[in-house]
Amino acid sequence: MKVDMMSDSKTKLKIEKTEAEWQQILTPEQFYVTRKQGTERPFSHPYHDLKNEGDYDCQCCGAALFKSDAKFDSRTGWPSFFSPVSEDAVIERADNGLFSRRTEILCASCEAHLGHVFPDGPQPTGLRYCMNGASLDFSEDDTSE
Ligand SMILES: [Zn+2]
Repeated sequence: MKVDMMSDSKTKLKIEKTEAEWQQILTPEQFYVTRKQGTERPFSHPYHDLKNEGDYDCQCCGAALFKSDAKFDSRTGWPSFFSPVSEDAVIERADNGLFSRRTEILCASCEAHLGHVFPDGPQPTGLRYCMNGASLDFSEDDTSE
């Protein structure tokens, strides 16, 4: 058997923790959403209509995921963005349920479940990144010099 070179370094996550370790640093709702592919109730999280300027980082690992200038009011009750902060900030994964085919969105650094992306968003991308507020950690831009 030849296993001299494991060439999986490209897909290796930057941050890996056990379930118990995640459970220690997350609230029960954050854990349910990000590590158990959960979905928070619509309109339940204050980020859904937050309009302040700032950054939305991964609740689990702090990686930058979205910016307020790509946020729009989707009236779905979940924070929605037309694009992530960069193409490699998130990863997509096919989520083929029994009744629907969706594309799951995960943090590229720690594989936290963030939400799903749908092709009915506004321009310039036409995409709607429908995120769970519990997956995100908002930090407001510092406007003081
Ligand atoms: Zn993360």
